[in-house]
Amino acid sequence: MEIDELNLDENAVVVVCVRATDFSPYADNLHGECALCHVSVQHRPHVPQPCTLICKECFLARVEDGETIYATPRTLAEVQAYFHRN
Ligand SMILES: [Zn+2]
Repeated sequence: MEIDELNLDENAVVVVCVRATDFSPYADNLHGECALCHVSVQHRPHVPQPCTLICKECFLARVEDGETIYATPRTLAEVQAYFHRN
């Protein structure tokens, strides 16, 4: 990922978000703006702060194959719970 594009330091937290118009099972999502393309995005209320939001489309356009993707334990638990319900 080309983090230089965002002028972030090495400790910056980047949160990859779905767009505000995408489906989400969570009614309590908060909204923000992609730092790269400025589209409206949504994210969970408990993302680390401060953070930089980028949309999934910008992330996928920049991520290299085999790059490690991180998520908070709470986010992973929510995603697991969602897929077990459906
Ligand atoms: Zn974007």
